[in-house]
Amino acid sequence: MTDRPSTREAARLLRQQLEMGAGEVVLSGMTRAEALALLAVSPRQDTGRTTTPEGTNSVGQTPDRPAAPAGASQTTSEAVRALRDAHRPPTVAGVQAPAKETAAGRSKPPGSAAPPEATDTTPLVLPEVYDEVKDIALGCTRCRLCEGRTQVVFSDGPSDARLMVVGEAPGANEDETGVPFVGAAGKYLDLLLSTVDLSREESVYIANVLKCRPPGNRNPLPDEIEACSPYLLKQIDLVRPQALLAVGSFSGKLLTGREKSTLGKLRGTVHSYHGVPLVVTYHPAALLRNPKWTRLFWEDLQLLREVLDTA
Ligand code: URA
Repeated sequence: MTDRPSTREAARLLRQQLEMGAGEVVLSGMTRAEALALLAVSPRQDTGRTTTPEGTNSVGQTPDRPAAPAGASQTTSEAVRALRDAHRPPTVAGVQAPAKETAAGRSKPPGSAAPPEATDTTPLVLPEVYDEVKDIALGCTRCRLCEGRTQVVFSDGPSDARLMVVGEAPGANEDETGVPFVGAAGKYLDLLLSTVDLSREESVYIANVLKCRPPGNRNPLPDEIEACSPYLLKQIDLVRPQALLAVGSFSGKLLTGREKSTLGKLRGTVHSYHGVPLVVTYHPAALLRNPKWTRLFWEDLQLLREVLDTA
C-alpha cells in the first residue's frame, strides 16, 4: 500500500487527538461517509467484515463473560477443540438438539442448512517451506468455505516482517482481491499502525484465522477454525515475527488459548504465543462503528510499540 499524503495527514491528526487525550477520535464530528472519504474508501467498498470487539458480527454490546481461571493454559488445538465443543448443541439420547444459535450468538435463519459433515479437521502436517505452505493453502478444500470462495486469502506483506497482524476472516473485498484487510477496516488499520510508525508495506505481515470468506460475512465456525488454523500457526512459525497483534476475539482467543475470555480481558497486556510476544486488541471494523474504542486500540498499539522497541 502506498502511504498517500492524505493518509499521512490523517494519521498525524489522529495521533494528535489521541495524544491530547481525546476519548472519541476520527469519526467524532464527521459523518461515516466523511471519515471513509478521509481514508479514501468509498462507502460502496465498505463491504468488509463488520466485527464487534468480541469478533461477533452482530451489532449488540459485548457481554463481559468471566475470564479463564488464572494460570489456565492450553495448547492451541485444545483451545480450538474447546471452542468447537462450546458451540456444539447438547444431545439427548444420541439425537442432536436443533441449534438455536450460531457461533455468533445470533439466531439461525429458519431452514438454513446444517454445516456439512465433510470438514476435514484431521491434523495437517505442513512443510517447513513458506511457498509450499502457501501453495497447499491456495488449493485447500478442508472445509465448506472452499465452495463459495473467489480466492484464498493467504497473506499480505513481507514474510520477514517484524510484526504479524492476525485478523479473523476475509470479507467481500478480500475474497475478490485475494489480499487481507483491503476494505475500510483495513484502511483504518493501516492508518492506526502508521501512528506508531509501522508501515504495512515495509514491516507488517497480515493473515487471518480463516483463509476463505464465510458466506455473508458470518462468524467463523469452530470446525472451520480447526480445519484452517494450521495454516496460520505454520505462518507464525515460518515468519517468526518479533511481535504478534491479534485483532478481534477469534484470533485473540485462538492465540492465547483462552477461549472463554472476553476481548476486554485479553487486551491491555502482553501474552506469549510460543515465545512470541502477543498483544490482543479490538478489530478495526469495530472501531469504525464505535469510535470510543479507538483510544483503547491505540493504547494497545503503544504496548505493541514498546514490545517492538525492546525486541
Ligand atoms: N476483517 C478481517 O478480519 N480480515 C480481513 O482480511 C478483512 C476484514
